[in-house]
Amino acid sequence: MAISLPVLPYGKDALSPFISANTLEFHYGKHHKTYVDNLNKLLEGTDLIKLSLTEIIKITAKDAAKTGIFNNTAQVWNHSFYWQCLKGGGGKPAGAIAQKIDATWGSYEKFADDLKNAGLTQFGSGWVWLVQEGKDLKITKTANADTPLAHEQKPLLTIDVWEHAYYLDYQNRRADYLTAVIQNLINWDFVNANL
Ligand code: MN
Repeated sequence: MAISLPVLPYGKDALSPFISANTLEFHYGKHHKTYVDNLNKLLEGTDLIKLSLTEIIKITAKDAAKTGIFNNTAQVWNHSFYWQCLKGGGGKPAGAIAQKIDATWGSYEKFADDLKNAGLTQFGSGWVWLVQEGKDLKITKTANADTPLAHEQKPLLTIDVWEHAYYLDYQNRRADYLTAVIQNLINWDFVNANL
């Protein structure tokens, strides 16, 4: 069964002006789609094709001979997760995640600063994450396609910090992109549902 590109959970202009429809045209319509197409080519004729994306990620993560499959599978999964982490009209967290953030970082403001700084200091392409490890919440960052699923962590939230995620709207200003996303676009209902 072929992997399919998931439907974007909102219209291409839903995140505007913080992430433009133009960025979504390329990021979802070209970059994400290309990872799906490449993965389907790589999985053709292999036993892995019967497995879920998360199973393929866990099996291929430590296998140097399967780096291409790992990279494309993780990028398909990471992007599908990222789209769900966003929505137009995001704001501050509520519910269980808000309490856990306060308990871990002392305040939402400190958490937001740390999340932004982690995204800003990821050298080169990658992702910044809020994850659950055991009972603890942690902010982590991963390079290129790497994903917390390969490190026995449960992803709760991610922001893509590859240049293709922000260059059309922010050029080299990754900090401005991170601030805009964190302040305006986080879907905290989705983050709560991941707890
Ligand atoms: Mn991306």
